[in-house]
Amino acid sequence: MAGTGGVLRSGERVLLVDRRGRSSLVRLRNGGRHHTHAGVLAHDEVIGAPEGVEVRTDRGAAFVVFRPTLSDVVLHMPRGAQVIYPKDLGPILLALDLRPGMTVLEAGVGSGALSLALLSAGAQVVGYEVREDFAARAEENVRSVLGRDVPYRVEIRDVYEGISGTAPARIVLDLPEPWRVVPHAAEVLAPGGLLVSYLPSIVQVRELWSALVRCGFGRCRTSEILERTWHVEGQSVRPDHRMVAHTGFLTVARLLSPAPEGLGDPPGAAAEASADTEVAGPESTGGE
Ligand code: SAH
Repeated sequence: MAGTGGVLRSGERVLLVDRRGRSSLVRLRNGGRHHTHAGVLAHDEVIGAPEGVEVRTDRGAAFVVFRPTLSDVVLHMPRGAQVIYPKDLGPILLALDLRPGMTVLEAGVGSGALSLALLSAGAQVVGYEVREDFAARAEENVRSVLGRDVPYRVEIRDVYEGISGTAPARIVLDLPEPWRVVPHAAEVLAPGGLLVSYLPSIVQVRELWSALVRCGFGRCRTSEILERTWHVEGQSVRPDHRMVAHTGFLTVARLLSPAPEGLGDPPGAAAEASADTEVAGPESTGGE
């Protein structure tokens, strides 16, 4: 990955960035040639050079070469399913409160973008994916970036039918009906365990919250991440004209401990009360 030191070697994947900031990922081979919109770049110009070097095509066009960051990889990776974008991946990692070595159940794995982020943060990932072709692509994407030995296992199975064979500390869901997973999550997580779900529509979020409250989760919180990039060039320093207005809503919840027999309200009732008051928003910032 990026910045790991040493010169660029044959077999590595590198990011080529042109003068206008457009980039592509290329795997270096001795004697290889990369065709660009502005001529052909010989891989041998890059092999043996340090990161950050400027190289030129046979037509004189300049490219700067780096090892790709995780964000670069996610934005360029081959995909079947829609990937989760970098702006959301960072907050998901924090919402999950990951620690190195923690076991995370991820469903579905899609193209493996979220898997890459989880594994890079040190988690051991068990993925559930219904589509065999997606599972294979995710495994390939992940292992080609992080290596063959990374703690990653994708099982071809439907998570709506249950979770077994693993005791995850965290669960992260990127699929259309996460409320169907919530009862299973409540069975396998320990009290205090975290569940995070990524959903494109707020109607789905409403349904998810109902299931969370019903199944004994509390401290539910839903948010969206708006990222606005800036144009910085000479006297022209302003927000970019375009931004990605919507990707998905992040919802995080924690499993409550069942109250001992005959003591107080059932956990669902406590969660119901907090469900009405803890939607993330300006009115709730002082209450945290
Ligand atoms: N987070 C992924 C993208 C996931 S797309 C990434 O960043 O690359 C959603 C995936 O969920 C799809 O691959 C779909 O096949 C899978 N899926 C849908 N329903 C499922 C289920 N019930 N069990 C397991 N996987 C499911």
